[in-house]
Amino acid sequence: MSSSNAVNASTGGSGGQIVVAGAGYAGLHVTLRLTAKLRNHPEVELTLVDRYDYHQAITELPRVAGGTRAADAVRIPLQDMLAERVRFVQAEINGFDLAGRPLLTGAGPIGWRRLVLALGSRPNDFAIPGPPCSSSRRALPSWPAPHPS
Ligand SMILES: Cc1cc2nc3c(=O)[nH]c(=O)nc-3n(C[C@H](O)[C@H](O)[C@H](O)COP(=O)(O)OP(=O)(O)OC[C@H]3O[C@@H](n4cnc5c(N)ncnc54)[C@H](O)[C@@H]3O)c2cc1C
Repeated sequence: MSSSNAVNASTGGSGGQIVVAGAGYAGLHVTLRLTAKLRNHPEVELTLVDRYDYHQAITELPRVAGGTRAADAVRIPLQDMLAERVRFVQAEINGFDLAGRPLLTGAGPIGWRRLVLALGSRPNDFAIPGPPCSSSRRALPSWPAPHPS
């Protein structure tokens, strides 16, 4: 079975809610793919959750650091990319209650039938002294702030 058929077979016609946690590269990609693949299955609810209401183009951050691109230019508002059927919830994800099933967020619990975890990772600088070498937004306090405070 191809991966696209697997998506249809596993979710199509089953109804319920698919929740994608994280609107980074992985989460946004999955959400856009599911939107396309499930176009004939309006009964499947799609929800995307992220603490920010925009997708941060992380790979462009070095340009921001180098001053050749404005921080605003590498933040893509999610509302510009998501179809109307996708419910976007801007909230901090605090945990999971796998037994009870809800995703625990600052906006309250969100129930899911299928959960996609795409929350990224935390950089490790291995305690090497000096300025942070990772270009992750979380490790670059001296860079132009990619997120509004
Ligand atoms: C400078 C740089 C250049 C890179 N260039 C390349 C490249 O050329 N090619 C390549 O393949 N890879 C590249 N990478 C790596 C690539 O960016 C990562 O592999 C990719 O971002 C990982 O995607 P992700 O969706 O797993 O996580 P992320 O893109 O980090 O997304 C995670 C999302 O989850 C959200 N989130 C996390 N925790 C919470 C929480 N508790 N509550 C709510 N929301 C939360 C975040 O806000 C974020 O939107 C580069 C990385 C950097 C830093």
